Formats: sequence, structure tokens, C-alpha cells
Amino acid sequence: MKLLEERIRRDGILAEGNVLKVDCFLNHMMDMRLLGEMGREFKRLFADRPVNKILTIEASGIGIACMTAQCFDVPLLFAKKARSLNISGDVYSTEVRSYTYGQTYKITVSKRFIGPKDHVLIIDDFLANGCALQGLIDLVTAAGATVEGIGICIEKGFQPGGKTIREKGYRLESLAIVDSMNIETGEIVFREQ
Ligand code: 5GP
Repeated sequence: MKLLEERIRRDGILAEGNVLKVDCFLNHMMDMRLLGEMGREFKRLFADRPVNKILTIEASGIGIACMTAQCFDVPLLFAKKARSLNISGDVYSTEVRSYTYGQTYKITVSKRFIGPKDHVLIIDDFLANGCALQGLIDLVTAAGATVEGIGICIEKGFQPGGKTIREKGYRLESLAIVDSMNIETGEIVFREQ
């Protein structure tokens, strides 16, 4: 998606640890017009899928997932990061290793809000090693629901998550794929799609 690539080039900041910071339009302050365009693009890409629920993970996926849910006219469900170790029986839960913070944490969704009749489109802001995505897939699977597709705003194509998830047979669409980024020169190379 050219609009997103241009914005990343203009406002993205390269940080240590292969981190791309997009705080000024996606992860902290949000450009709602751009997020609206991205939501419409996900709707176009997955128009052939019978999606009845959007799933993301708190906190930074929620903005783009909201806009996507609005385009599909379906509810948005976000997985919560569990604060307590005592997970109750009324939730599905799994563990995720955080890319940006290097810690492992639990995520949960209530059994009231997802079940075997659901056809889920998973949406997230970034894809790096694929841990967050795998956690969300595990929750959908535990609920007996169907993963109809996965939409990612920015995939870092030089990290293994995208390849791993595609090899598992999931339909994964990323609006921008960064094939390389150089913290010294600031150069960002996008994959032709
Ligand atoms: P993964 O689980 O695929 O390794 O990492 C994905 C998660 O880590 C995303 O939900 C995102 O919050 C965070 N993340 C990974 N790489 C980056 C990055 O380069 N920039 C930002 N802002 N977040 C990232």
C-alpha cells in the first residue's frame, strides 16, 4: 500500500534491535484518516471471506482493528494481556513472547465472545517473529473458531514470522513489507507487492 509506505519513509524512525518506530501515526498518536484507508484496504483484500469478527491484541493493534471492524460491520474483540497468573476457566488463554519488551506474558479472551460459529479476521500492527500472531491463532483454535485470514499493517520481511505463518497455510496479507532497514543510513527497502 503506497500511502503507508510513503508515510513510513517520511515519519518512521529506525531504532536499535531492528525496531521501526511509527509512534506519530500508528502506535501512539494515530492518523485516523490513514487508519481508515488501511481498514478499507483490509476489507478489499478479504472481501471474499465470510468474516463475522475481528480479533487483535491490546494495545497497539486496537486502533487499526477498530477501523477494519467498522468496514466489515462486525464486532472487534481484543485479546487482553493478563495481569494475574490465576487464569479463570471462563477464558481462553495462551502465552506470548513480546518482541519489543523481551518478556513472556499471557493473553486471554472471554469464552462468552468467541466460539465455534465464529469466522475471524486477525489484525495486528506489526509482524516480526510471529509470536503475537501465533498466540492469537492459538486462541481462535482453542475456541473452535475459524481463522479466515490475517491482516498486518507492517511486516518486517527480514524476520521469520511471515514465512512461518504462510507456510502453515494461513492467508496473510501485509499492507507494507519491509525487506531491509539500515539504522546507519536510514534507508528502508519495501518488497514489491
Ligand atoms: P512478533 O510477535 O511478530 O515478534 O512481534 C509483533 C509484535 O511486537 C507486534 O504486535 C508489535 O506490537 C511488536 N513489534 C514487533 N516489531 C516491532 C517494530 O519494529 N516496531 C514496533 N513499533 N512494534 C513492533
